[in-house]
Amino acid sequence: MPVSVGLLIRSETTTVFDLLRQSMGHRRRLEMTECSICSAPIEGQGHDPDPLGDPKKDRCCDWCREHLVIPAQERRKEVARWKEEVRG
Ligand SMILES: [Zn+2]
Repeated sequence: MPVSVGLLIRSETTTVFDLLRQSMGHRRRLEMTECSICSAPIEGQGHDPDPLGDPKKDRCCDWCREHLVIPAQERRKEVARWKEEVRG
């Protein structure tokens, strides 16, 4: 009797751990992305790296968005404004 109960608990534990490991692996595959700029792993969905990457397939991390993508977007706006001024 104690042996069968022990086996039952052990097999249930294994099943729970297996399920947990599977769901964690599944979540990692779904959510972990690589930053298209610095190659750091991204938690969650990441950000649109436009104009420093392809907005259709690339994602970037928080750091690159703050330090590279937003300044690049500002610069692009400035250039567009400057071009309009030159054109008159
Ligand atoms: Zn990055």
